[in-house]
Amino acid sequence: MPDLAGLDNGKHFNTPGSEYNRAVCGQAAMIQHYAGLTTQQTMSLVVLKFGGTSVRDAQAMHQVARIARSALSQWERVVVVTSAMGKAPNDTIKVTDALITAARTAADGDSETFHRVRRELADKHQAAIDGVIANADERQRIGDEVEQLLSGFEMLCASVRVLGEITPRALDAISGLGERMAARILAGALRNNGIPAEAVDATEIIITNDNYLSAAPLMEATGEKTRARLLPLLEAGIVPVVTGFIGATPAGVPTTLGRGGSDFSASIIGAVLDANEVHNYTDVDGVMTADPRIVPNARTIEALTGQEMSELAFFGAQVLHPMTIAPLIEKGIPLRVKNTFNPSHPGTLIQHELARTGSAIKAVTVIDQVAMVTVAGRGMKGVPGIAGRTFMAVARTSTSVLMISQASAEQNICFVVPRNAAVKVVHELEHEFARELSHQEIDHISVMDEASIVTAVGMGISDTPGVSGRVCSALGAHGINIHAIAQGSSECGISLIVGAKDSREAVRAIHALTGA
Ligand code: ADP
Ligand code: ASP
Ligand code: MG
Repeated sequence: MPDLAGLDNGKHFNTPGSEYNRAVCGQAAMIQHYAGLTTQQTMSLVVLKFGGTSVRDAQAMHQVARIARSALSQWERVVVVTSAMGKAPNDTIKVTDALITAARTAADGDSETFHRVRRELADKHQAAIDGVIANADERQRIGDEVEQLLSGFEMLCASVRVLGEITPRALDAISGLGERMAARILAGALRNNGIPAEAVDATEIIITNDNYLSAAPLMEATGEKTRARLLPLLEAGIVPVVTGFIGATPAGVPTTLGRGGSDFSASIIGAVLDANEVHNYTDVDGVMTADPRIVPNARTIEALTGQEMSELAFFGAQVLHPMTIAPLIEKGIPLRVKNTFNPSHPGTLIQHELARTGSAIKAVTVIDQVAMVTVAGRGMKGVPGIAGRTFMAVARTSTSVLMISQASAEQNICFVVPRNAAVKVVHELEHEFARELSHQEIDHISVMDEASIVTAVGMGISDTPGVSGRVCSALGAHGINIHAIAQGSSECGISLIVGAKDSREAVRAIHALTGA
């Protein structure tokens, strides 16, 4: 792997024989295909993703334009991916949240809320347009496009209200509108700052399955569409400003990649374009040792492996969508998490391989609103297939299991699911094990529904003796009861189930072990 010190400069990677060089050469071959070039060229490429706070108002969008300009001085090609506008200092509107609330209240028969949301969204986006675009014709054109999207929103909500229900498919069509508005305005902001830019709806380039609300990309089709649409723009020196979060099925029906999915969009695009790096711009100085809202003295982590980052994201670190790392690991593309409002801070580097440094525990995360389900009984011992039947039953409810722990005596299986799925999971298990329950081979299926998963993450956890002991002692010293414990599948995390009321204190107690 290349020297970490040079990561901010893309050209650093273009050393002959490096894996980056090979990736870039692959990309050059494609460019040749699309642009008819006659000689192979290596062109450095970076994908810059900006989250909701980074595009929250006109001022933030100007800052994004400055970052894009600086990137263009270091990289030959720049792709921007944007989230919907987030909460600004002078309003309280998170656009995606507002769209979802409007859709849900419409389904409940409320016709006030979605009309009000439309007005609020019109004002917020118009203020951004007025603040970033000097040219009157351009202002008018983008204003008309936003207005058209908002009319579509209002019509969709009106239909939802008439139907009295919202399907996942309709919710995706509505919740993805924020990114479409933001991309148009941000592209205008870039052009206003002298950077040729064009807004691109990811429905044109990210092709997904039809698992609405959390669709998975079909990478081959996505690669073909993305290259065909973006490479000619890049070749012409234009920065594509692509909507995060959304995609479309092969039939063209809009989908979303799940809440927080713009991070994933950027890494999908980075992977299919063989980018040299992906930079994820957010509102904190990188990935921190804990959520700074819970632990005010949390510190920025200089470097993480992809595995560590995946574990952190899966176990609740909101800073990145849990799927963000997967496409990048496969291609060996480094990801840097940076702060839009403090861009000179190096942030956190996430890459494939990393020398082990520092303490075993690098960070701690928490997932709230979970329930622990226990299937227990002395009659279970030695009975084959109980675990298999348990998880098949859970799967039938389309619930994902966040963590599993089994007592060594085989007398119980306990696992954790999102709290709102607990009732249907237990119902399905009672149905599955009706015979065993009546014969008392299974004594009970119980739920602890005020639970949280607290996870300590770090590569050193699996091979440093005594780490789990230290974690448990730290919680014991604070009088926190541990209900179950499990080592993460990637072996770089330990997860503990604690009562919801103890979760904050548990995070702070484990945080004291980071950097130790
Ligand atoms: P964006 O809109 O830029 O995608 P998000 O709100 O999705 O931003 O993610 C950034 C937020 O994640 C931070 O403001 C922080 O409150 C929260 N967060 C939770 N855990 C962590 C962590 N370990 N490191 C950094 N931020 C974290
Ligand atoms: N705007 C979407 C959300 O709020 C996606 C994102 O911000 O990443 O979930
Ligand atoms: Mg996010």
